[in-house]
Amino acid sequence: MEPIPHSGLFYANKFALIMIKALEDVMGKNGLNAILNLAHLPEIIDHYPPGNLAKEFDFADVSAINQALEEMYGPRGGRGLALRAGRATFADSLKNFGALAGAGDLAFKVLPMQVKLRIGLPAMARIFTQVSDQHSTVQEFDTEFIYTIHRCPVCWGRKDLDKPVCFIAVGLLQEGLKWVSGGHEFRVYETRCVSMGDEICEFKIQKSPIS
Ligand SMILES: [Zn+2]
Repeated sequence: MEPIPHSGLFYANKFALIMIKALEDVMGKNGLNAILNLAHLPEIIDHYPPGNLAKEFDFADVSAINQALEEMYGPRGGRGLALRAGRATFADSLKNFGALAGAGDLAFKVLPMQVKLRIGLPAMARIFTQVSDQHSTVQEFDTEFIYTIHRCPVCWGRKDLDKPVCFIAVGLLQEGLKWVSGGHEFRVYETRCVSMGDEICEFKIQKSPIS
C-alpha cells in the first residue's frame, strides 16, 4: 500500500494509544508490528504515543493503520479487528470522559432509553470534536439517528472505494451506545463514506436495540 500524505489534522495521543493497545491485545505484538510496518509507521513499534490529550497523532496515520488491517486480514477480518479496536477505545477511555461519565450515574440510569440516546450521542460527538480535529454532528429522525463525521480520520486520504471502511468509528459508536443505554446493542451502518466520494462519513443508528 502507498503511504498516505499527512493531513495536518490530529487525534489526541491518548486515543491513538488506546487504539494501538487494543490492536496489540487482539493480534499480539508481532501481528501489530506487521501492521505498523505495512502502514509505513515502523517508528511507532517501540514508541507508542504518550497517554495525553495533546492533538499530535495525524489522521493519515489512523487511516493507514485501518487500511493495513484490511490488506493484511482481508476485508472481513480487517473489519472485525477494526470494530474491536473501536469498541475497546470507547470502553477503555471515552466512557470516563466529560459528559459521558454521567451515564454511569443513577439519575441518568433511570431515564427512558430514547432520552439516554438523545443525550448520549451528542455528548459523544462533542467529545470527539474536543479531543480531535474531527468534527461530528448528530441528527434525530423517527426511527434512527444520523451521526455524521465531517472530517474523518479513519478513511483519511483514501478514495475510489466501493464500500465504506470506517469500522473503527462503527465500533466506537456501538460501544458508546451500549454504555449510554445501559447495556443494549444497536445496529450501526455506515451509509456514506468520504473514501467512496461522499462529502462526509455518515452512520445510521437504529433507535430500537437488537438486544
Ligand atoms: Zn470515514
